[in-house]
Amino acid sequence: MSPALALSGKELAAALREETTARAAALTEGGRPPRLAVVVATADESSAWYVRSIARAAAKCGIACDIRDLGPDASAAALRAELARLSEDEAVHGIILQTPLPAGAALEDLASAIAPGKDVDGANPVSLGRLAARLPAFAPATAEAVVALLEHHGIELTGRHVAVVGRSTVVGKPAALLLLDRNATVTVCHSRTPDLPAVTGRADVVVAAAGRPGLITAAHVRPGAVVIDVGTNPTPEGGLVGDVDAASVTPHAGALTPVPGGVGPVTTALLLRHVVQAAE
Ligand code: NAP
Repeated sequence: MSPALALSGKELAAALREETTARAAALTEGGRPPRLAVVVATADESSAWYVRSIARAAAKCGIACDIRDLGPDASAAALRAELARLSEDEAVHGIILQTPLPAGAALEDLASAIAPGKDVDGANPVSLGRLAARLPAFAPATAEAVVALLEHHGIELTGRHVAVVGRSTVVGKPAALLLLDRNATVTVCHSRTPDLPAVTGRADVVVAAAGRPGLITAAHVRPGAVVIDVGTNPTPEGGLVGDVDAASVTPHAGALTPVPGGVGPVTTALLLRHVVQAAE
């Protein structure tokens, strides 16, 4: 069997960025320059790196990005007030609340202060509820990126069995909802799923979103199946690895997303597309 096809996210991300740049330019010309606000309350270095990379990507697309750093000791009340203020600010079109948050501040509680129309990373529980009810809403960009990558590479979803490993509110659950909407038969697995390889091994598509490096091996994947690796796990050497043990899965799977260069770039590109959509 030939080794897995690499499902790169770079080409799709570039096409999305091109479209977003044109839409951002039209908005700016019309006197409504698109603006994203990222609220930060952590000294975590990988989070700071991620926020800077979003700001750089936004600038390249012609989207202004304000980083509102309230410091690692910010209270939940101060964070909520800032999110409410930004929700009212007519010059701001998209709002992201960056994690991790200080002790005593929970994303699920605070995200309800983000106006759903500006909730470009689908963090407000109202957005998830609307997604579940098939009403217009911003989906979390990572979950949307999973489906966008599969569709971009022409992978059929109707009637296919997809196993999603992970049930978080930001990735696993919304990804499962979006896949259901594409008529896939979806199984959602989590840390209490007994015999994970038996479940994922029956799937046509495996979506790994557990945050556990190397969790998914050849034993979890049916020969020829498609594997989407959402995991972004920092290595002690300063690199990044996914949830999939690529050395074991590559000779066995039909297709596999690389980490980095798979889901990640598409996620950022979709986030920025959401900002122009919100501004429009
Ligand atoms: P999370 O909130 O920690 O959720 C992890 C999920 O995986 C939980 O549902 C957990 O089950 C499940 N899980 C953990 N260990 C498992 C195991 N051994 N077997 C089966 N299920 C297991 O993480 P998250 O925020 O969803 O993120 C998941 C991964 O995606 C992380 O690596 C994160 O860095 C990455 N991520 C990537 C992007 C991107 O743009 N590429 C964006 C966001 C997140 P329980 O519910 O039972 O605990």
